[in-house]
Amino acid sequence: LEDQLRQAQKMEAVGRLAGGIAHDFNNLLTVINGYGELVLSLLKANDPAREMIQEIVGAGERASSLTRQLLAFSRKSIVEPKIVDPVSLVTDLDKLLRRVVGEDIELSVMSSGNVGVIQIDPGQFEQVIMNMVVNARDAMPKGGFVTIELQNINLDESYIGKHPDAIYGPHVLIAITDSGIGMDAVTQSRIFEPFFTTKGEHGTGLGLATAHGIIKQAGGQVSVYSELGKGTTFKIYLPRIDSPVQTTKKDSKPISQGSE
Ligand code: ADP
Repeated sequence: LEDQLRQAQKMEAVGRLAGGIAHDFNNLLTVINGYGELVLSLLKANDPAREMIQEIVGAGERASSLTRQLLAFSRKSIVEPKIVDPVSLVTDLDKLLRRVVGEDIELSVMSSGNVGVIQIDPGQFEQVIMNMVVNARDAMPKGGFVTIELQNINLDESYIGKHPDAIYGPHVLIAITDSGIGMDAVTQSRIFEPFFTTKGEHGTGLGLATAHGIIKQAGGQVSVYSELGKGTTFKIYLPRIDSPVQTTKKDSKPISQGSE
């Protein structure tokens, strides 16, 4: 619990700091990119400076995209939890996810039986799925597969024993599996930390920290199973709300059944 509290405080501080810096940076980058483009348009096609300016503009654009991600991360957007069907949310995302993974990665979505409904901000739910699928893609530079499986699961003593802050009872399990490079134990232990990345300048290290925050806020759990050279599975558990939820948390509110 103390770890979680520290993580939450760290996230908030990091968010505030990152938001401020990202905002100022974004303004500066607008100047760099804007004048870079202008200079490019003034140079003759064979000017030797062209390539250098193009490098500057390219780097500026990458920096803009990173600051945009930072801003999105830090922005205190209004969170509106709704009662949603996770299967239809994932199905609606299907096209976009396929575009994100590209042609060399096979993406499949599977669900078994009556998966049930959960209570979460739909935009945040999509963000979690998207962040995980982007990571899966990044772990498979030569292609492979990603599967998203949804099912109904009952969390009992055997799970709660290892995850004492979990809530007993019916959950929706969303398992996202890839056939990518996998992670060693040290990496696995740090992936949910803000700013932890193994992607150098291409990573922000915020994707999983954000996902973790969203899942926790919705009363859920996330765990990772990974093997180097084989692949990775993220298991996201979100409480089903169509039957009463027995809780181990003293601060969680009872959730009414089946209505918004
Ligand atoms: P970023 O993607 O910007 O690095 P994340 O927080 O999304 O930030 O991920 C943190 C790190 O976790 C990644 O840099 C990578 O090392 C590791 N990681 C996340 N997902 C996977 C995956 N599916 N396969 C292998 N490594 C992963």
